[in-house]
Amino acid sequence: MFKPSILIVDDEISFRSAIVDLLKEDGFHCVGAESGEEALSILEKERFNIVFTDLRMPGIDGITLLRKIKAFDSSIAVVMVTSHSSVDSTIEALRLGAYDYVIKPLEDIELVSAIIKRISEKLSLQQEKEVLLEDLRAKNQALEESQRKILQHSLEISALYTAEKELLSGLNLDEVYQRSATYLSKLLDGRPVALWIFEPSRKKLAVKTYCNINPLDAKSWNVNFEEPVYTVNETLKATITKKVHPAPAEFYAIQGHQSFFGILAIIDLDNNSFTKREREILARFSASVAMAIENAQLYNEVKTLATRDGLTGLFNRRHFEDTLRSEVIRSNRHKHPVSIIFLDVDYFKSYNDSQGHIMGDTVLKKIAKIVQSRVRITDFVCRYGGEEFIIVLPYTNKQAAKGLAEDIRSSVASHSFPHEDSQPNGRLTISLGIAECPADGMDPESVLQSADVALYRAKEKGRNCVCG
Ligand code: GH3
Ligand code: MG
Ligand code: MG
Repeated sequence: MFKPSILIVDDEISFRSAIVDLLKEDGFHCVGAESGEEALSILEKERFNIVFTDLRMPGIDGITLLRKIKAFDSSIAVVMVTSHSSVDSTIEALRLGAYDYVIKPLEDIELVSAIIKRISEKLSLQQEKEVLLEDLRAKNQALEESQRKILQHSLEISALYTAEKELLSGLNLDEVYQRSATYLSKLLDGRPVALWIFEPSRKKLAVKTYCNINPLDAKSWNVNFEEPVYTVNETLKATITKKVHPAPAEFYAIQGHQSFFGILAIIDLDNNSFTKREREILARFSASVAMAIENAQLYNEVKTLATRDGLTGLFNRRHFEDTLRSEVIRSNRHKHPVSIIFLDVDYFKSYNDSQGHIMGDTVLKKIAKIVQSRVRITDFVCRYGGEEFIIVLPYTNKQAAKGLAEDIRSSVASHSFPHEDSQPNGRLTISLGIAECPADGMDPESVLQSADVALYRAKEKGRNCVCG
């Protein structure tokens, strides 16, 4: 058990030394003081657990000493040594915080031992309690810390989840690139972020988007390679590192299922080294970026397949029908004309028969190119079917459409196609029919019908001409 240190204060030497000797014999650290003054000066130098003090002493008396000790260190147990005649003072001492009292002359020395034993037990318990409390405090602190970490972690996961969801919902590639950098930077408390994507040649890694980086810096970070690059390797990382230098950076490959799209990086412009958590976020986010890029690419492919003609790359008939319908509605609402040109290759069956379908296909592709090169970016060139094409010209009246049709006709007629001299009229030509909304029809079907009739007239007139 805990062995307390004891100070005996009494001006009566016989009592004082008897107790000191006895307690020393019992193995206690025990010191005697002959007055209140001496006791205080001893206590200034050394700490004692228990003080036995006489009530009546010359100079500082027992009550005053008790007050001073309690003011100085309230944990010291003070036991009053009193006499039968000092009942009032003893009661006051107890009120002031004295632990107990013994009456002098001592009837039994064991009384002192019993008091010391009780105090020791109390002090032991107190010490144990303090150890337990300290342990509890440490455990509470650890618990709070882990709760804080769990909360932070769950906030991060939910932010990451939201960012990934947003990213994956984007179907426009440029939007996906832009969001990748902004979301990642946001997840990393505004860290600078850059995204490099391979150009189709795979000989250039271009900075597609960045966040919290000076645009001039970002532009100078494009990387060119002599040979096409298809895999991530250390040389590639070193090349980019050199560009970003002297700022350290953490790179991660944007690796899709089929191909390696580029590199996503966090850049340490302020020299705050990267944490393990930041690296984990970067690694996980890169995988989502790759998935979002694949999604957007797939969507674009599907969209192209649904709206484009496989041979010429022009819009297909379905897209033409949708476009004509919306342009006619717009034309009626805003009172402006929309024209269409119906175009058909002359004697194409004959060309196919003499040159074969593959040569025929090449001619169709060439005509598509010629037509495309003559129209405005706002016009729609469609392959209606076989060797028939239709051009939708918003905000264009019939006269302007005729001018364009004539231009296309003469371009095709003057173009030299292989073996065209075997054609019935000696060269490969086209016929064109024109119709305008609202002049020739107020709805898509009647406009198309008018253009078809005009085309038929052009054929009747001997082909290689424009009617409408
Ligand atoms: P016309 O001057 O009256 O238009 O005569 P034409 O021979 O061009 O007209 P016709 O409708 O009799 O024949 C059209 C030909 O176009 C028939 C077909 O072999 C050819 N054709 C249709 N689609 C394709 C295609 O995708 N590729 C090739 N090579 N030929 C096609
Ligand atoms: Mg035809
Ligand atoms: Mg034809």
